[in-house]
Amino acid sequence: MKPIYLDNNATTAVAPEVAEAIQPYYHELYGNPSSMHLFGGQLHRRIEEARAKVAALIGAEPEEIIFTSCGTESDNTAIMSAVESYPHKRHVISTRVEHPAVLSFVRHLARKGYRLSLVPVDAMGRFDMDFFMKSLDENTAVVSVMHANNETGVILPIEEIGAILRERNILFHTDAVQTTGKIPINVKGLPVDMLSLSGHKLHAPKGIGALYVKKGTRFYPYIIGGHQEHGRRAGTENVASIIALGVACELAQGNLKIEAVHVARLRDKLENALLEKCPDPRINGDTSRRLPNTSNISFEYVEGEAILLRIDEFGICASSGSACTSGSLEPSHVLRAMGIPFTAIHGSIRFSLSRYTTEEEIDKVIEIVPPIIKELRTLSPYGKERIIKCS
Ligand code: PLP
Repeated sequence: MKPIYLDNNATTAVAPEVAEAIQPYYHELYGNPSSMHLFGGQLHRRIEEARAKVAALIGAEPEEIIFTSCGTESDNTAIMSAVESYPHKRHVISTRVEHPAVLSFVRHLARKGYRLSLVPVDAMGRFDMDFFMKSLDENTAVVSVMHANNETGVILPIEEIGAILRERNILFHTDAVQTTGKIPINVKGLPVDMLSLSGHKLHAPKGIGALYVKKGTRFYPYIIGGHQEHGRRAGTENVASIIALGVACELAQGNLKIEAVHVARLRDKLENALLEKCPDPRINGDTSRRLPNTSNISFEYVEGEAILLRIDEFGICASSGSACTSGSLEPSHVLRAMGIPFTAIHGSIRFSLSRYTTEEEIDKVIEIVPPIIKELRTLSPYGKERIIKCS
């Protein structure tokens, strides 16, 4: 059974064009780009071509792109570089809804003695600008705010935040792992100093990422060793994956309209149908500022884990904010930060589409999911009185 894959914020399928483009780099072009001989040395040029493609997707200059192993490494590197570059500044600001790639890292810094301010969000996942303004001071080394949240798709106001930080000369990093390739990004008009992206969220393989560092920004490498990436990230280059990221970024650029129109239409069709066919659902997150591919819905009084297991029998892949499915003992920190009631967090499901999602797949999900919710509600001690309303 071919899966109906609606978990693209977790990872994406490698685009066929990407898979094809990287084949020679395993069998024929396997040299080390740092070698003196032509066999290895020719790869240097291809890496630079890939760098230019990644840069083009976000409006950067090629020399502003550093290849990393993943989004997590890009995030860690950006924040570490900022605090290393300004050692006298001992205050870091981030948000309560960051991905663990940022949140766990800034908490690690807090354990090392840094002061940490975590900006809260409201019930719709919107950034608390007042709290942020009050947190800023002359000791702030860096502010790291994600571009869009991976669980709800809510887009954060990085233009506004960045403009404030520019005035005060404070470094600004954004985790754009979920936005790169889904919505247009142009760092030329965006007041950010560093921006993280990850290959496996935009149809490149897992294990490749990039960090944009604006020209003139103080930078301190996180991985220290050889001279690769102009001394900014040591380690022999993952050539095939770098080529893959280049091709994936080129494809993403050509497909941005599809993301905005086709993907958003299918997401809205799915969401509207689920809202209509089940009682008391709630959409988690600000629907007016959201990624085009993401829908996070709570079906109260139903266990998200149970929903996932049942829809999995039909080959439907999604994810949930409930504790059992998130690989941690705690339910989603993002939904908790939004003040969503526990009963709703436990019944939350995230559907995340891609440009490969088809209308037929969405129609099938619309057919399969509502009766499952209805059935699971009958099993819930709280659900019986609500079942009457469920069509
Ligand atoms: N940041 C966000 C917002 C993410 O969604 C993810 C992955 O889910 C990451 C960072 C980490 O990226 P990677 O898996 O490439 O380390």
